[in-house]
Amino acid sequence: MALLATSTIAFKTINTQIRSRSFLPAQRHLPLSSSPPSSSFFRTVSVKAMELEQKNPMVIDENGVLKKGIAEFYDESSAIWEDIWGDHMHHGFYPPDSTVSLSDHRAAQIRMIEQALRFASIPLGDERKWPKKIVDVGCGIGGSSRYLSEKFGATAIGITLSPVQAQRANALAAAQDLANKVSFQVADALDQPFPDGQFDLVWSMESGEHMPDKAKFVSELARVAAPGATIIIVTWCHRDLGPDEESLKPWEEKHLKKICDAFYLPAWCSTADYVRLLESLSLQDIKSEDWSPYVAPFWPAVIRSALSWKGLTSLLRSGLKTIKGALAMPLMIEGFKKDLIKFAIITCRKPE
Ligand code: SAH
Repeated sequence: MALLATSTIAFKTINTQIRSRSFLPAQRHLPLSSSPPSSSFFRTVSVKAMELEQKNPMVIDENGVLKKGIAEFYDESSAIWEDIWGDHMHHGFYPPDSTVSLSDHRAAQIRMIEQALRFASIPLGDERKWPKKIVDVGCGIGGSSRYLSEKFGATAIGITLSPVQAQRANALAAAQDLANKVSFQVADALDQPFPDGQFDLVWSMESGEHMPDKAKFVSELARVAAPGATIIIVTWCHRDLGPDEESLKPWEEKHLKKICDAFYLPAWCSTADYVRLLESLSLQDIKSEDWSPYVAPFWPAVIRSALSWKGLTSLLRSGLKTIKGALAMPLMIEGFKKDLIKFAIITCRKPE
């Protein structure tokens, strides 16, 4: 997933929100981790972001600049994320109406993995049918790979565009005595360095939103899947279009564009688009669901931690890309609230 955007306006939104706390209805059980930063602190971060923005105007196109931006974004921000949130760089799954405590977030991220496995009908009760060889496409620092490898006793290979992530993921695997089972490398999901039909679980947790060519992305997932393999895609989508609609509304396009600029994302697609792509590849048991309601507490919690002293000082020490990402977080919350952004799971099986 795209982490931690972009204008002073967004920053002002965060600033106003933390003051009024109006953006935290589901978080009322979370105490602020320390006393709120002073207004001069906010000004300092904001001015730094603006200065950096002027020096490094961001350009995104689909000919390599996007990939470079993604790699640099994660090179720069992954250590901060790990420091504050741990090794899973994806949303948590929060049961409806649950109270959310600060310590629950890692558990919520694990719950996301477990729920995804269940949704995809992985036979958790039958060890003989557990996945043995997993590919983690867009692996971050390898949280899913290590978790799945330990859970199933499987081997896992993760790919990321970020050299810093690949290195850190390998170091964490070694530290957990998993180096013989799990490994990570820099590679492009749209041109994967694997022969056909290799993996019995193809896992993409919040990386699809970064892919500029969704058809190529999905066809690569299907290509590396072994016959009978399960493919799990958890990703950000825009709402499905109505029967009379040919495109999103102008305000919706504008809103997504701001998020794209901050998080290094190309054009978005809908869940229905993913389903059509999977159907066109004759994949079986295609299922999808909107999990937006289950992830609602996530961004407010991330903003909260970014606004803690630890979060802010880390942000100040980071670079422009991370700061821009942090400033875009309220746009995600607004997008979900306005039913524009959908948190989607799409799963299927490759025919035997
Ligand atoms: N799945 C991980 C990380 C999600 S962050 C987790 O849940 O913890 C998104 C990840 O997608 C990053 O690691 C980024 O490098 C990766 N990514 C984005 N575009 C990619 C591409 N074209 N090829 C490979 N990895 C990509």
